[in-house]
Amino acid sequence: MVLPPNWQTECIEKLMAIRKTGAVQAYTDKFQELLLDVPNMQENEDVAISIKGHDDQLKMEVRLKLTNEDGLVEAMKIADIVASIIQKSSGARDKAEESSQGTDGNSSKDKCNMCGRAGHFAKDC
Ligand SMILES: [Zn+2]
Repeated sequence: MVLPPNWQTECIEKLMAIRKTGAVQAYTDKFQELLLDVPNMQENEDVAISIKGHDDQLKMEVRLKLTNEDGLVEAMKIADIVASIIQKSSGARDKAEESSQGTDGNSSKDKCNMCGRAGHFAKDC
């Protein structure tokens, strides 16, 4: 099979087009699969492209933690760790929101048992 002259560019464009939408692992698998088609990837170019696919918060954190010695495998590992930390902290925030809503619910217990609205009781509904 003869590769077209712009093969490399096309492959890199494909790599750049993929985005981390779910788990880092799924993104890594897709990325590495496409990477196999790129014959002459420059050193660390793959790392740079892989980071571009992350969402903004993850991108920022990975760039902070990554050193020049880190290759794609390290970059993906860091992304995986950072993503789980971000997920945990956002999970904790959701819980805090839930519990504050729960407190609000308890404070407005003077509500109608018939329709659930505050301001009157079931006997007046
Ligand atoms: Zn009512």
